[in-house]
Amino acid sequence: MRLYNTATRKVEEIVPIKDKQIGIYSCGPTVYWNQHIGNMYAYISWDLLVRALRYLGYEVKQVMNITDVGHLVSDGDEGEDKMEKGAKREGLTVWEIAKKYEQQFFDSEKLLNINRPEVVCAATDHIPEQIALIQKIEANGFTYITSDGVYFDTGKFPDYAQFAHLKLEEIKDTKRDEISKEKRNLSDFALWKFSPKDGPKRQMEWGSPWGVGFPGWHLECTAMSVKYLGETFDIHTGGIDHIPVHHTNEIAQGYGAFGHQTAHYWVHNAFVVSKGGAKMSKSTGNLFLAQELATMGIDPLAYRYMVLTSHYRKGLEFSLDNLKVAMVAYQKLKNFVSEIGVKGSVSEAYKQAFETLLAADLAMPEVIALVWKLTKDVDIRPEDKKATLLDFDRVLGLNLGEKIKTVEISDEIAKLVMARDAARKAKNWEESDRLRKELEQAGFVVEDGLDGTKVKKMIK
Ligand code: AMP
Ligand code: ZN
Repeated sequence: MRLYNTATRKVEEIVPIKDKQIGIYSCGPTVYWNQHIGNMYAYISWDLLVRALRYLGYEVKQVMNITDVGHLVSDGDEGEDKMEKGAKREGLTVWEIAKKYEQQFFDSEKLLNINRPEVVCAATDHIPEQIALIQKIEANGFTYITSDGVYFDTGKFPDYAQFAHLKLEEIKDTKRDEISKEKRNLSDFALWKFSPKDGPKRQMEWGSPWGVGFPGWHLECTAMSVKYLGETFDIHTGGIDHIPVHHTNEIAQGYGAFGHQTAHYWVHNAFVVSKGGAKMSKSTGNLFLAQELATMGIDPLAYRYMVLTSHYRKGLEFSLDNLKVAMVAYQKLKNFVSEIGVKGSVSEAYKQAFETLLAADLAMPEVIALVWKLTKDVDIRPEDKKATLLDFDRVLGLNLGEKIKTVEISDEIAKLVMARDAARKAKNWEESDRLRKELEQAGFVVEDGLDGTKVKKMIK
C-alpha cells in the first residue's frame, strides 16, 4: 500500500511496524452537534482505507476518538467549550448532548455502511490517562503554568513548525488578552485548562495535580492512540483542517512525552464543498445529514457511491444534482448485479487491477472506472462479473449483493402518484395536497423525492 504522507509531502510505501499488522488512529467527531455528510466524507475515506488494507492482506486495528470535552470554539485555547455551548443551546446537560450526537454519528455510520472501528473511545473516559501524559511531558521539562492552565512550551520543540510548514514569525497576537500575554510563544497550547474562577460552573471538570479543570483538545488523541496502539503506531488520519493546529500539537506532545512522534504516516482528507468551493459546514448551512437523505427518498449509499467517485485528497463538490447523477449510476450498478442469477468465479485479471489501484494511494475514481469497464467487458461471463463485483464490494461497501426492494403497488395507486406529480409540476398545491391525503388514507407514507412522489406502505 502506498499513501500520501503529509509529514513528508510524498506518496510513500507503507511499511508496518510489525509483520503485516497496521494500527490506525482516526480523529473522530466532536459530539456537540450533528455530523453532516461533509464530516462523514472523512469517515467513509478511512473506512475505505481500512477495508482496502484488509483486502490486500493486512491485519488492521482501527481506533477512533469521540471528542466530548475540551474542543473550544476557536480550535485553539480561547472561546467556549463546544460541548458546553451545545448544552446551553438545547437545554440539555453536556452529558446528554454527548450521548445524543454520538448516537447520531453511529446512526450515520450505519446508513453509510461504515464499519465501526475496533476501538471507539471517549475523551471523558480517559481523564487519568491524559493527566498521566501531562505528567510525562512536565517531567521532561516541556510545560509551564499560567493563570489559565498548563501549557506546552513549543519553543522547546525545534521542529514544531515543520509538519505543517508553519511560518511562526507570521503569527500575530491579535487577541492581546490575558491568555496570550502569559504564553511564552504564541504557538504554545493548553494541555490542561483550569475551570474559570468566576462565571457559571462548568458541567465537566476534574481534579488534577495542577487544579480543577479539563484537558486540552489535542491531548486526548495522543493519550488514547498511545493507550490502544502503542507509543509508535502506523497511520494517523484526519481532515486537512487538522494539519496546522491539532496534529501539529499532537506531534509536539509525542515529542514532549516520548522524544519522538507517535505515528509513522499522517494521512489527510480534503473537504466536501458546495458549488463555488465553500466548505460544507455548520456555519455556512449548506449541509445535509445522512438521515435527511434517507427521508428524502435517497439511499444514503448513493452518497457513499458519490464519495467513491472522488479521491480522498481532492475532496468532493456536492450538490443535489450531482447526488442525483450518482444515485442513478448506483442503482444501475446494483440492478446489473441483481439481474445476474448465479455467481461464477472472480476474474483474476480484474482482481489484480483492482488491487493495484487500491494500493496506489486509494485510487477510487479509477476503481469505479474499472467497475464499469468490467460490466461492459464482453470477454467475461456474466456470472463471473457478478462474483468479481461482489468480491470488490468487500472494499466498496455498496451492498451490491442486496436485492433491490420493490413494493408492488396497484394501478390505482400508481395513477394517484402520477396525478400528484403532474399537479406539483403545475404548481397546483391544493390538488397535490388532496392527492397526498388520498394516498395516506390508502395506507401510504408520501415523500417528495428528487424524482417525484415516493410512496411507502405503512407497516403497523
Ligand atoms: P468535528 O466534529 O468538527 O471535529 O469534525 C469531524 C471531522 O470532519 C474532522 O476530521 C474534519 O476534518 C471533518 N470535516 C469537517 N467538515 C468537513 C467537510 N466539509 N468535508 C470533509 N471533512 C470534513
Ligand atoms: Zn484528534
